Amino acid sequence: MSDQPTIKAMSFGAGVQSITEALLIAEGKLEKPHAAIFSDTGWEPAGVYATLDRVEREIFQPLGIPLYRVSNGVIQDDILNPDKMRAIPAYTASQPYEVKVVDRWGLCPVKSCGWRKLRQVKADSAEGAGEMSLFAVETADLSDMDGLFDLIHLIPLGATLSEVDARAAQWAPPSDIEIEEGDLEDEYVAASKVAAALRRAGLRQVPGPHDPCNSTGLVATASHTETKRDYGMLNRKCTQQYKLRPILEQVRLLLGAPIGNEILCRYCNGEGKRVAPWRAKRGETVIGDCSVCEGLGTISRVGPPPAGAWAEQWIGFSTDEIGRVSNRGDTKYSRSRYPLLELDMSRAQCIEYLEARGWGNVTKSSCLGCPFKSNAEWRRLRDTDPQAWAEVVAFDKAYRHGAGMTQQRYLHASCLPLDEAPIDVRQPREWKPTTVTDQVYAAQLQRAEDGDPDGCSPWACRSGRPVDDAA
Ligand code: SF4
Ligand SMILES: [Zn+2]
Ligand SMILES: [Zn+2]
Repeated sequence: MSDQPTIKAMSFGAGVQSITEALLIAEGKLEKPHAAIFSDTGWEPAGVYATLDRVEREIFQPLGIPLYRVSNGVIQDDILNPDKMRAIPAYTASQPYEVKVVDRWGLCPVKSCGWRKLRQVKADSAEGAGEMSLFAVETADLSDMDGLFDLIHLIPLGATLSEVDARAAQWAPPSDIEIEEGDLEDEYVAASKVAAALRRAGLRQVPGPHDPCNSTGLVATASHTETKRDYGMLNRKCTQQYKLRPILEQVRLLLGAPIGNEILCRYCNGEGKRVAPWRAKRGETVIGDCSVCEGLGTISRVGPPPAGAWAEQWIGFSTDEIGRVSNRGDTKYSRSRYPLLELDMSRAQCIEYLEARGWGNVTKSSCLGCPFKSNAEWRRLRDTDPQAWAEVVAFDKAYRHGAGMTQQRYLHASCLPLDEAPIDVRQPREWKPTTVTDQVYAAQLQRAEDGDPDGCSPWACRSGRPVDDAA
């Protein structure tokens, strides 16, 4: 591979950083790339398309830089199409359910219960109170099995004291090995600790299963119920599918790759129609467009570029995004370059630079329904573009239930329908979260308030989870 790139291609997202790059090129502070590439998800705010047109007209055309608008489909239509397996990273929530939360624990009411006796073993201060680590009965947290009870469950229930002693002897480490904390400690020391605890509890064997206390020696003596929902988030694959992939395809074409021969689609046997495999799995028989060939029956893929040809791929990360730099997006035929990092420009400097040149107030590039929006962005959409807002609200509703999913999907972090979501208030200030569930939820709301400062980049994790590895 030659040291010199065959072409220089600029990834143009129509946001603050990439417009700064375009103006720097116009001012001669950066050399001219061969092409600028914008990947269009089909769901950008009107302001982004307007900016795109303006940049093309006022900057790229006078410089003779072609702007390629590439696309891999209209994201919001694809997502709602049951014959396509596409998604955006929505917030998910289960249906509300009740859980019992124990406020107080007491000893197993059956006096003869061996587990109860073990709970009553007093730690021997000579051996170090922490060593035995018995639970303080009233505040016991059964999920915290770090102490003796964790070790006991490494020994078969019902094992006799002499069997436990024998195990301890068998597991004793050779004298030249130092026992480390953790795994080895568990293996070598469990038996001896358990043997010591059994002796102090006056037991001759590890107790057998005891249902009343679930073999823990403890029962709940006071409890209340809480309503819970489980929250999560779907993986982000959209950036890879809708942004990175079409950009790399265009790069290959620019490098001279062949368009590729049309071959029969083997997923639908060239018919263009099929029952999507994920639908068939659910027992559905509806025939729809084949998602692989998009209903065409044939596939033609852009091939690999000629040997040795490679592209320098300009990515507009500013200095505050240095943590996002990685060669993840590099391929056999493209290498990343970061012009704004070379010029040591931060996002704030880019904004200042743009404002000074009449390019202030650049709309952030991101899908209209992108769940990584901040509350401020949701408000802006609602208050400035009622039609787009109505569409996104409808999309949010339509996206709620995914076939085969038990969780519901939401665009807003509150896991409420978008038109009911608290996008106007800073919830955590008005409402003091008390339970752990509340706190998780409050953190999620705070994240919604703050949002991400940047748009969605094909090249790295500018928002939410990282994009998948490059194709
Ligand atoms: S803007 Fe959001 S929804 Fe659109 S491609 Fe990027 S991460 Fe996905
Ligand atoms: Zn018991
Ligand atoms: Zn097909």
